[in-house]
Amino acid sequence: MIIIDGSEGEGGGQVLRYACALALLTGTPFTIENIRGGREKPGLMRQHVTAIEAACVIGGAECSGLAVGSNSISFRPGRVTPGDYHFAVGTAGSTGLVLQAILVPLMMADGPSRIVIEGGTHAMAAPPFEFTERTLLPIINRMGPTVQARLIRHGFFPRGGGRIEIDIAPAPLRAIECIERGEAYGRSVTALVAGIPFDVAERELKTARKILADWPAEAFATRQLPAEFGPGNALLIETAFEHVTEVMSGFGKLGVPAERLAQTASRRAAGYVGSGAFAGPYLQDQLLLPFAMAGGGVFTTVKISQHSRTAIELIRRFIGIDTAIVEVEDGPCRVAVGKA
Ligand code: ATP
Repeated sequence: MIIIDGSEGEGGGQVLRYACALALLTGTPFTIENIRGGREKPGLMRQHVTAIEAACVIGGAECSGLAVGSNSISFRPGRVTPGDYHFAVGTAGSTGLVLQAILVPLMMADGPSRIVIEGGTHAMAAPPFEFTERTLLPIINRMGPTVQARLIRHGFFPRGGGRIEIDIAPAPLRAIECIERGEAYGRSVTALVAGIPFDVAERELKTARKILADWPAEAFATRQLPAEFGPGNALLIETAFEHVTEVMSGFGKLGVPAERLAQTASRRAAGYVGSGAFAGPYLQDQLLLPFAMAGGGVFTTVKISQHSRTAIELIRRFIGIDTAIVEVEDGPCRVAVGKA
């Protein structure tokens, strides 16, 4: 039984999802205390409960203490069973984050799965659908499995109501190297609005144009979704290279000016493009688990995040695999999974 202090490292929900996945992959039970102890409002939120329930369902696991607000759970994994599953968060909690708890176990299972997840698809502090589809899954697919994602309906905070579908065909995972991005293929900035004034999208693009001043005019576009999908707004900034596509994002929220969210997302995109790194700030922690299960792999990235450091520590505890990080001033970091 592994005992985890949920306030350590990043101290958020990610540690729960990765711990569930690692428990299913290794057969090792765990107890976590001080859940989300690093957050202003600690304890499980609806989104985390759904992710852990999903891990229980696909993995025949038993979990005690599982309730909204709970500060501690014990998780005892069973056997991962592939199949057709449907999970609903019930709020705008992220569908992509529910997937985070079950994707790697299902892509290493002994048969294919089809997963439907309902909730938020474009929610704050979580991967938007486009990131899952265009950034994460192409790399997973290079490792062996075939995982395809479809966005059936957008879901924004606070209403949710979004829906994604994922098809997973497992295959043995092979270790890969993700060092160079390769040639630049294209870039785009899309301001999505649903059921809110259209000028929000225009203001976001105006700000993005100023920061990404050397991007071509045709790279900037607005997209209006049916009003019943909203209210909602997201800014998606995509940079496609030969070997990787990164999607940076910003999400509209009451009280956050359109200009501010566009500025943050655009600066992040410019920083990533200028860094020469393969993985941006969010892809890095999401590559660690599949790389560890492949027995190794190397990637370059921007500054190492606290999410990554937390994931590395969890992986070390569950699988005994160490990760070497070489930080270079003014250059991409090199992360070698499976190296002491
Ligand atoms: P909490 O409310 O405790 O922060 P959480 O479960 O919502 O919990 P984190 O623990 O912070 O969130 O984990 C967020 C995960 O989502 C990380 O894996 C991170 O890489 C990913 N993520 C966050 N924002 C983005 C984004 N804009 N694009 C892609 N991935 C993202």
